[in-house]
Amino acid sequence: MAKRIIVTGGAGFIGSAVVRQLVAETDWHVVNLDKLTYAANLSSLDAVARDPRYRFVQADIGDAKAVGELLADVKPDYVMHLAAESHVDRSIDAPADFIETNIVGTYVLLQESLRYFRGLDADAQRGFRFHHVSTDEVFGSLGPEGKFTETTPYSPRSPYSASKASSDHLVHAWHHTFGLPVVITNCSNNYGPFQFPEKLIPLMILKGLAGDKLPVYGKGDNVRDWLYVDDHARALRVVLERGRLGETYNIGGESERTNLEVVHALCDLLDAHAPKAASHRSLIHSVADRPGHDFRYAMDISKISSELGWRPRETFTSGLESTVKWYLENVAWWRSIQDKSYRGQRLGLEPQAKQEG
Ligand code: NAD
Repeated sequence: MAKRIIVTGGAGFIGSAVVRQLVAETDWHVVNLDKLTYAANLSSLDAVARDPRYRFVQADIGDAKAVGELLADVKPDYVMHLAAESHVDRSIDAPADFIETNIVGTYVLLQESLRYFRGLDADAQRGFRFHHVSTDEVFGSLGPEGKFTETTPYSPRSPYSASKASSDHLVHAWHHTFGLPVVITNCSNNYGPFQFPEKLIPLMILKGLAGDKLPVYGKGDNVRDWLYVDDHARALRVVLERGRLGETYNIGGESERTNLEVVHALCDLLDAHAPKAASHRSLIHSVADRPGHDFRYAMDISKISSELGWRPRETFTSGLESTVKWYLENVAWWRSIQDKSYRGQRLGLEPQAKQEG
């Protein structure tokens, strides 16, 4: 029988890629549970919106009643949990939402999933999985050498990474204490189509297209390990279906780049595909660094590749070119965000968290 899955955060960047891929590549029934925060965009799901195997439900993962009723109604084989507040700079300006959704919301989702799981018959229990999607940022910051493995001790340093680390610990606890069947993945920085333009790559593309200055934090020498979003979505499915219960899997792109290298590559692609009189590199300028900016992240992906046979398909060069072309061809998608909620302003500069009301 076709599987049923609830994907939380399916109207966000990675969640929508997961939902589109699941509907296109499986016969599963996919229910997208999303609160529709500023980061959500239902138009990212146009490709599946009319598919009879797709359904959208607007709800908050912290609403126990709504979550419990949805679980009872859908009777899923899988819950894949991506809903989160996800932007480090916003977590510096306003941490409360990060605590509420990433920690308390995950707790509520775990409790309701456990209640649902305990009500299943033995056969259904054997097939059920709760998949928690997390980040490499929980491991802290690396120096110039080494990579994060699944056994690297946690050392989160921003309100965002601390909230994700807390949620990872809760998921492990619900497995070990209550027997909820879980898998956890920690992934490096994603990029690709449909990414909200507050994140580095789409922000630089849209500023470059507008001929605005391209703000690079500090010297631009912070290093991230970039993964194309569809590769991440594929990895999630592999772990969901074949990962060992209670285990964590690192996912990464094996594409380390400094921020300045990323911006240079984007400028060169914009010069090629949307040329201006002067090179886009002339727009680059340095701005005050992010407070507490982690220096380097890099993922060791040997566990997922040796156990489950997953490796990224896109290179950084091919993925970045597809991404730039996508933003050039999908102006209506990002213009509606600029009109509604975000115009590329600097976030997260305040070194001390603002008092929140
Ligand atoms: P995103 O910000 O683009 O999307 C998050 C989605 O969650 C939005 O659609 C939003 O409406 C929804 N949401 C937020 N709060 C909610 C709530 N209380 N109830 C229900 N829905 C809610 O995020 P993303 O970049 O797609 O990231 C998805 C997940 O992957 C997150 O858990 C994030 O921590 C993790 N992750 C992201 C990256 C990355 O590079 N973007 C890398 C590794 C891991």
